[in-house]
Amino acid sequence: MVITEQKLDQLREILGGAPKKMALLSHTNPDGDTIGAALAWRAYLERLGHTTRCIAPNRYPYFLEWMTDIGYIGVFKEDADGEMAKFIGEADVIFCMDFNQINRLDRVTDTATANTTAQRVLIDHHLHPPVDGYTVQFSDTHSCSTSYIVYQLIEALAGTDAIDQAMAEALYVGIMTDTGNFSFSNLTSDLFRAVAVLIDRGVNVPYVNSSVYDNFSEGRMRLLGYMLNDKMVTDYRYGVAYVSLTEEEMRRFNFIQGDSEGFVNYPLSIRGIRMSAMFIQTKHSIRVSLRSRGSDVDVNVFARRYFDGGGHRNAAGGKSYVSMDETLKNFHTYLKEYFGA
Ligand code: 5GP
Ligand code: MN
Repeated sequence: MVITEQKLDQLREILGGAPKKMALLSHTNPDGDTIGAALAWRAYLERLGHTTRCIAPNRYPYFLEWMTDIGYIGVFKEDADGEMAKFIGEADVIFCMDFNQINRLDRVTDTATANTTAQRVLIDHHLHPPVDGYTVQFSDTHSCSTSYIVYQLIEALAGTDAIDQAMAEALYVGIMTDTGNFSFSNLTSDLFRAVAVLIDRGVNVPYVNSSVYDNFSEGRMRLLGYMLNDKMVTDYRYGVAYVSLTEEEMRRFNFIQGDSEGFVNYPLSIRGIRMSAMFIQTKHSIRVSLRSRGSDVDVNVFARRYFDGGGHRNAAGGKSYVSMDETLKNFHTYLKEYFGA
Protein backbone atom coordinates (compact mmCIF):
# COMPACT_ATOMS: atom_id res chain seq x y z
CA MET A 1 0.00 0.00 0.00
CA VAL A 2 1.38 3.35 -1.03
CA ILE A 3 -0.73 5.43 1.31
CA THR A 4 0.85 4.38 4.58
CA GLU A 5 -0.10 5.79 7.97
CA GLN A 6 3.36 7.30 8.21
CA LYS A 7 2.98 9.16 4.91
CA LEU A 8 -0.53 10.24 5.85
CA ASP A 9 0.85 11.69 9.08
CA GLN A 10 3.44 13.62 7.08
CA LEU A 11 0.68 14.92 4.84
CA ARG A 12 -1.53 15.80 7.82
CA GLU A 13 1.35 17.80 9.22
CA ILE A 14 1.74 19.70 5.95
CA LEU A 15 -1.98 20.36 5.66
CA GLY A 16 -2.52 21.20 9.34
CA GLY A 17 -1.74 24.38 11.23
CA ALA A 18 -1.94 27.87 9.82
CA PRO A 19 -3.27 28.44 6.29
CA LYS A 20 -0.56 28.11 3.67
CA LYS A 21 0.06 29.00 0.06
CA MET A 22 -0.13 25.90 -2.07
CA ALA A 23 0.61 25.50 -5.77
CA LEU A 24 -0.78 22.50 -7.64
CA LEU A 25 1.23 21.85 -10.79
CA SER A 26 0.01 19.82 -13.77
CA HIS A 27 2.21 18.34 -16.46
CA THR A 28 2.67 19.89 -19.88
CA ASN A 29 0.01 19.09 -22.52
CA PRO A 30 -2.34 18.48 -19.61
CA ASP A 31 -4.78 15.59 -19.86
CA GLY A 32 -7.98 14.75 -18.01
CA ASP A 33 -6.12 13.04 -15.19
CA THR A 34 -3.66 15.78 -14.26
CA ILE A 35 -6.48 18.36 -14.50
CA GLY A 36 -9.08 16.26 -12.66
CA ALA A 37 -6.67 15.32 -9.87
CA ALA A 38 -5.54 18.94 -9.42
CA LEU A 39 -9.08 20.34 -9.37
CA ALA A 40 -10.37 17.85 -6.80
CA TRP A 41 -7.31 18.23 -4.58
CA ARG A 42 -7.55 22.02 -4.88
CA ALA A 43 -11.15 21.96 -3.67
CA TYR A 44 -10.15 19.87 -0.67
CA LEU A 45 -7.20 22.13 0.21
CA GLU A 46 -9.35 25.25 -0.09
CA ARG A 47 -11.84 23.72 2.30
CA LEU A 48 -9.02 23.31 4.80
CA GLY A 49 -8.46 27.06 4.52
CA HIS A 50 -5.38 27.14 2.29
CA THR A 51 -4.79 29.52 -0.58
CA THR A 52 -4.24 27.56 -3.75
CA ARG A 53 -3.41 27.97 -7.40
CA CYS A 54 -3.65 25.24 -10.03
CA ILE A 55 -1.12 25.87 -12.77
CA ALA A 56 -0.56 24.02 -16.04
CA PRO A 57 2.40 24.86 -18.31
CA ASN A 58 0.20 25.17 -21.40
CA ARG A 59 -3.49 25.06 -22.22
CA TYR A 60 -5.70 22.06 -21.45
CA PRO A 61 -7.59 20.47 -24.36
CA TYR A 62 -10.89 22.02 -25.35
CA PHE A 63 -12.88 18.90 -24.50
CA LEU A 64 -12.28 19.65 -20.79
CA GLU A 65 -13.59 23.22 -21.00
CA TRP A 66 -17.06 22.23 -19.77
CA MET A 67 -15.77 21.01 -16.38
CA THR A 68 -17.37 22.80 -13.42
CA ASP A 69 -14.09 23.99 -11.84
CA ILE A 70 -11.98 24.38 -15.00
CA GLY A 71 -11.76 28.15 -14.41
CA TYR A 72 -9.37 27.42 -11.53
CA ILE A 73 -6.70 26.11 -13.90
CA GLY A 74 -4.19 28.83 -14.71
CA VAL A 75 -2.18 28.54 -17.90
CA PHE A 76 1.43 29.52 -17.26
CA LYS A 77 2.12 30.23 -20.92
CA GLU A 78 -0.66 32.83 -20.96
CA ASP A 79 0.38 34.49 -17.71
CA ALA A 80 1.53 37.83 -19.13
CA ASP A 81 2.27 39.60 -15.84
CA GLY A 82 4.20 36.78 -14.19
CA GLU A 83 1.67 36.41 -11.43
CA MET A 84 1.75 32.60 -11.50
CA ALA A 85 5.54 32.47 -11.33
CA LYS A 86 5.31 34.79 -8.34
CA PHE A 87 2.77 32.52 -6.65
CA ILE A 88 4.95 29.45 -7.18
CA GLY A 89 7.95 31.36 -5.83
CA GLU A 90 6.04 32.28 -2.67
CA ALA A 91 4.33 28.93 -2.20
CA ASP A 92 4.86 26.99 1.03
CA VAL A 93 3.91 23.74 -0.64
CA ILE A 94 4.09 22.56 -4.23
CA PHE A 95 1.99 19.55 -5.24
CA CYS A 96 3.22 17.73 -8.34
CA MET A 97 0.21 16.11 -9.90
CA ASP A 98 0.51 13.20 -12.32
CA PHE A 99 4.13 13.34 -13.42
CA ASN A 100 7.35 11.70 -12.29
CA GLN A 101 10.00 13.92 -13.85
CA ILE A 102 10.17 17.58 -12.98
CA ASN A 103 11.03 18.46 -16.60
CA ARG A 104 7.50 17.37 -17.52
CA LEU A 105 6.70 20.88 -16.29
CA ASP A 106 8.39 22.23 -19.39
CA ARG A 107 8.51 26.03 -19.10
CA VAL A 108 7.51 25.86 -15.41
CA THR A 109 10.44 23.62 -14.44
CA ASP A 110 12.85 26.40 -13.50
CA THR A 111 10.25 28.30 -11.51
CA ALA A 112 9.32 25.17 -9.59
CA THR A 113 12.91 24.30 -8.70
CA ALA A 114 14.88 27.54 -8.35
CA ASN A 115 14.29 30.27 -5.75
CA THR A 116 11.80 28.20 -3.81
CA THR A 117 11.92 26.77 -0.33
CA ALA A 118 8.55 25.09 -0.74
CA GLN A 119 7.98 21.57 0.47
CA ARG A 120 7.26 19.37 -2.51
CA VAL A 121 4.65 16.62 -2.49
CA LEU A 122 4.29 14.14 -5.33
CA ILE A 123 0.98 12.53 -6.21
CA ASP A 124 1.51 10.31 -9.24
CA HIS A 125 1.16 6.90 -10.85
CA HIS A 126 3.95 6.83 -13.45
CA LEU A 127 6.74 4.27 -13.39
CA HIS A 128 10.13 5.27 -11.98
CA PRO A 129 9.15 7.79 -9.30
CA PRO A 130 11.86 10.37 -8.48
CA VAL A 131 14.47 9.32 -5.93
CA ASP A 132 14.62 12.59 -4.03
CA GLY A 133 13.45 16.18 -3.97
CA TYR A 134 10.13 15.52 -2.25
CA THR A 135 9.04 15.81 1.37
CA VAL A 136 6.56 13.02 0.78
CA GLN A 137 5.63 10.98 -2.27
CA PHE A 138 2.36 9.26 -3.01
CA SER A 139 3.51 7.24 -5.99
CA ASP A 140 1.40 4.24 -6.90
CA THR A 141 2.57 2.82 -10.21
CA HIS A 142 -0.25 0.27 -10.12
CA SER A 143 -2.94 2.90 -9.90
CA CYS A 144 -5.01 3.50 -13.03
CA SER A 145 -4.76 7.23 -12.52
CA THR A 146 -3.55 10.00 -10.25
CA SER A 147 -7.18 10.98 -9.72
CA TYR A 148 -7.79 7.62 -8.06
CA ILE A 149 -4.87 8.28 -5.69
CA VAL A 150 -6.38 11.67 -4.84
CA TYR A 151 -9.69 9.91 -4.16
CA GLN A 152 -7.93 7.52 -1.77
CA LEU A 153 -6.12 10.38 -0.04
CA ILE A 154 -9.32 12.31 0.56
CA GLU A 155 -11.03 9.12 1.71
CA ALA A 156 -8.23 8.44 4.20
CA LEU A 157 -8.00 12.02 5.47
CA ALA A 158 -11.63 13.08 5.64
CA GLY A 159 -13.91 10.32 4.38
CA THR A 160 -15.75 10.31 1.08
CA ASP A 161 -18.44 12.65 2.43
CA ALA A 162 -15.87 15.41 1.85
CA ILE A 163 -16.23 14.86 -1.90
CA ASP A 164 -18.79 17.24 -3.37
CA GLN A 165 -20.29 17.06 -6.84
CA ALA A 166 -17.62 19.15 -8.60
CA MET A 167 -14.84 17.15 -6.97
CA ALA A 168 -16.54 13.87 -7.88
CA GLU A 169 -16.88 15.03 -11.46
CA ALA A 170 -13.21 16.04 -11.63
CA LEU A 171 -12.05 12.71 -10.19
CA TYR A 172 -14.34 10.79 -12.50
CA VAL A 173 -13.00 12.65 -15.55
CA GLY A 174 -9.45 11.79 -14.52
CA ILE A 175 -10.24 8.12 -13.98
CA MET A 176 -12.38 7.82 -17.11
CA THR A 177 -9.85 9.44 -19.45
CA ASP A 178 -6.76 7.68 -18.06
CA THR A 179 -8.41 4.25 -18.25
CA GLY A 180 -9.58 4.79 -21.84
CA ASN A 181 -13.16 4.86 -20.62
CA PHE A 182 -12.61 1.90 -18.28
CA SER A 183 -10.91 -0.35 -20.78
CA PHE A 184 -7.18 -0.43 -19.95
CA SER A 185 -5.30 -2.20 -17.18
CA ASN A 186 -5.36 -1.61 -13.42
CA LEU A 187 -9.16 -1.78 -13.31
CA THR A 188 -9.60 -3.25 -9.85
CA SER A 189 -12.84 -3.97 -8.05
CA ASP A 190 -11.79 -1.33 -5.50
CA LEU A 191 -11.61 1.21 -8.30
CA PHE A 192 -15.17 0.42 -9.37
CA ARG A 193 -16.32 0.72 -5.76
CA ALA A 194 -14.70 4.17 -5.69
CA VAL A 195 -16.44 5.06 -8.95
CA ALA A 196 -19.73 3.95 -7.42
CA VAL A 197 -19.11 6.39 -4.58
CA LEU A 198 -18.37 9.16 -7.08
CA ILE A 199 -21.69 8.44 -8.75
CA ASP A 200 -23.38 8.65 -5.34
CA ARG A 201 -21.69 12.01 -4.88
CA GLY A 202 -23.40 13.32 -8.01
CA VAL A 203 -21.52 12.34 -11.16
CA ASN A 204 -23.81 12.18 -14.16
CA VAL A 205 -22.07 9.45 -16.17
CA PRO A 206 -23.70 9.93 -19.61
CA TYR A 207 -23.27 13.70 -19.32
CA VAL A 208 -19.57 13.46 -18.47
CA ASN A 209 -18.98 10.80 -21.10
CA SER A 210 -20.70 12.80 -23.78
CA SER A 211 -19.06 16.07 -22.76
CA VAL A 212 -15.60 14.53 -23.22
CA TYR A 213 -16.09 12.09 -26.08
CA ASP A 214 -18.88 13.63 -28.20
CA ASN A 215 -17.57 17.13 -28.25
CA PHE A 216 -14.83 17.08 -30.86
CA SER A 217 -14.41 19.33 -33.85
CA GLU A 218 -15.37 18.18 -37.33
CA GLY A 219 -11.75 18.74 -38.34
CA ARG A 220 -10.61 16.15 -35.83
CA MET A 221 -12.95 13.51 -37.22
CA ARG A 222 -11.79 14.18 -40.80
CA LEU A 223 -8.15 14.26 -39.74
CA LEU A 224 -8.63 10.88 -38.05
CA GLY A 225 -10.10 9.45 -41.26
CA TYR A 226 -7.26 10.87 -43.32
CA MET A 227 -4.61 9.67 -40.92
CA LEU A 228 -5.88 6.10 -40.73
CA ASN A 229 -6.52 5.80 -44.44
CA ASP A 230 -3.55 7.65 -45.92
CA LYS A 231 -0.88 7.67 -43.24
CA MET A 232 -1.04 4.50 -41.18
CA VAL A 233 1.84 2.09 -41.77
CA THR A 234 1.66 -1.48 -40.51
CA ASP A 235 4.49 -3.91 -39.99
CA TYR A 236 3.26 -7.37 -39.02
CA ARG A 237 6.76 -8.72 -38.47
CA TYR A 238 6.74 -6.83 -35.19
CA GLY A 239 3.01 -6.31 -34.83
CA VAL A 240 3.54 -2.56 -35.03
CA ALA A 241 1.50 0.21 -36.63
CA TYR A 242 2.45 3.87 -36.71
CA VAL A 243 1.12 7.17 -37.95
CA SER A 244 2.63 10.60 -38.37
CA LEU A 245 1.24 14.09 -38.83
CA THR A 246 3.09 17.11 -40.16
CA GLU A 247 2.22 20.71 -39.35
CA GLU A 248 0.93 21.18 -42.90
CA GLU A 249 -1.45 18.24 -42.53
CA MET A 250 -2.73 19.52 -39.22
CA ARG A 251 -3.29 23.00 -40.67
CA ARG A 252 -5.30 21.46 -43.51
CA PHE A 253 -7.76 20.06 -40.97
CA ASN A 254 -7.87 23.21 -38.81
CA PHE A 255 -6.07 21.41 -36.02
CA ILE A 256 -6.53 22.69 -32.50
CA GLN A 257 -4.71 21.38 -29.47
CA GLY A 258 -6.38 18.23 -28.20
CA ASP A 259 -7.57 17.14 -31.63
CA SER A 260 -5.14 14.21 -31.82
CA GLU A 261 -5.98 12.94 -28.33
CA GLY A 262 -6.62 9.20 -28.47
CA PHE A 263 -5.61 8.78 -32.13
CA VAL A 264 -2.71 6.53 -31.19
CA ASN A 265 -5.10 3.96 -29.75
CA TYR A 266 -6.95 3.21 -32.99
CA PRO A 267 -4.32 1.03 -34.73
CA LEU A 268 -4.21 -1.19 -31.64
CA SER A 269 -7.65 -2.55 -32.46
CA ILE A 270 -6.27 -4.22 -35.60
CA ARG A 271 -5.76 -7.96 -35.21
CA GLY A 272 -2.04 -8.71 -34.99
CA ILE A 273 -1.06 -5.21 -33.90
CA ARG A 274 0.31 -5.03 -30.37
CA MET A 275 2.17 -1.72 -30.47
CA SER A 276 1.15 1.61 -31.93
CA ALA A 277 3.13 4.80 -32.37
CA MET A 278 2.13 8.32 -33.32
CA PHE A 279 4.52 11.10 -34.33
CA ILE A 280 3.23 14.65 -34.25
CA GLN A 281 5.28 17.57 -35.44
CA THR A 282 5.35 20.61 -33.20
CA LYS A 283 7.31 23.82 -33.46
CA HIS A 284 10.51 22.61 -31.77
CA SER A 285 10.31 18.83 -31.77
CA ILE A 286 8.24 15.79 -32.65
CA ARG A 287 5.91 14.49 -29.97
CA VAL A 288 5.99 10.73 -29.76
CA SER A 289 3.09 8.73 -28.33
CA LEU A 290 3.38 5.00 -27.81
CA ARG A 291 0.78 2.43 -26.85
CA SER A 292 0.80 -1.34 -26.52
CA ARG A 293 -1.55 -4.05 -25.44
CA GLY A 294 -0.76 -7.19 -23.57
CA SER A 295 2.40 -7.71 -21.62
CA ASP A 296 5.07 -8.45 -24.21
CA VAL A 297 5.76 -4.91 -25.42
CA ASP A 298 6.83 -2.42 -22.76
CA VAL A 299 6.49 1.03 -24.31
CA ASN A 300 7.76 2.69 -21.14
CA VAL A 301 11.11 1.02 -21.79
CA PHE A 302 10.90 1.94 -25.48
CA ALA A 303 10.14 5.61 -24.72
CA ARG A 304 12.90 5.88 -22.13
CA ARG A 305 15.49 4.15 -24.29
CA TYR A 306 14.86 5.90 -27.59
CA PHE A 307 12.74 9.01 -27.12
CA ASP A 308 13.90 10.71 -23.94
CA GLY A 309 10.55 9.96 -22.34
CA GLY A 310 8.63 7.44 -20.27
CA GLY A 311 5.18 6.70 -18.88
CA HIS A 312 3.58 3.33 -18.26
CA ARG A 313 4.02 -0.17 -19.63
CA ASN A 314 1.13 0.20 -22.10
CA ALA A 315 1.15 3.97 -22.61
CA ALA A 316 4.18 6.20 -22.85
CA GLY A 317 5.50 9.21 -24.67
CA GLY A 318 8.63 11.10 -25.53
CA LYS A 319 10.25 13.46 -28.00
CA SER A 320 12.40 13.43 -31.11
CA TYR A 321 14.55 16.39 -32.06
CA VAL A 322 15.28 15.52 -35.70
CA SER A 323 13.08 15.84 -38.80
CA MET A 324 10.01 13.68 -39.35
CA ASP A 325 11.74 11.66 -42.07
CA GLU A 326 14.71 11.01 -39.86
CA THR A 327 12.52 10.23 -36.88
CA LEU A 328 10.64 7.57 -38.82
CA LYS A 329 13.88 6.14 -40.16
CA ASN A 330 15.24 6.00 -36.63
CA PHE A 331 12.03 4.36 -35.45
CA HIS A 332 12.60 1.48 -37.88
CA THR A 333 16.11 1.05 -36.51
CA TYR A 334 14.81 1.09 -32.93
CA LEU A 335 12.15 -1.51 -33.77
CA LYS A 336 14.79 -3.81 -35.18
CA GLU A 337 16.94 -3.37 -32.14
CA TYR A 338 14.12 -3.64 -29.59
CA PHE A 339 12.54 -6.73 -31.14
CA GLY A 340 15.95 -8.20 -31.93
CA ALA A 341 15.41 -9.03 -35.60
P1 5GP B 1 0.57 10.64 -24.31
O1 5GP B 1 1.00 9.73 -25.42
O2 5GP B 1 -0.90 10.54 -24.04
O3 5GP B 1 1.08 12.03 -24.47
O4 5GP B 1 1.30 10.10 -23.01
C1 5GP B 1 1.17 8.77 -22.59
C2 5GP B 1 1.80 8.60 -21.22
O5 5GP B 1 3.20 8.83 -21.30
C3 5GP B 1 1.27 9.58 -20.18
O6 5GP B 1 1.17 8.89 -18.97
C4 5GP B 1 2.31 10.65 -20.13
O7 5GP B 1 2.37 11.24 -18.87
C5 5GP B 1 3.59 9.91 -20.47
N1 5GP B 1 4.47 10.78 -21.26
C6 5GP B 1 4.17 11.40 -22.43
N2 5GP B 1 5.20 12.12 -22.89
C7 5GP B 1 6.21 11.95 -22.00
C8 5GP B 1 7.55 12.45 -21.91
O8 5GP B 1 8.04 13.20 -22.76
N3 5GP B 1 8.28 12.04 -20.82
C9 5GP B 1 7.77 11.20 -19.87
N4 5GP B 1 8.55 10.86 -18.85
N5 5GP B 1 6.52 10.73 -19.92
C10 5GP B 1 5.73 11.09 -20.96
MN1 MN C 1 -2.32 10.00 -15.35
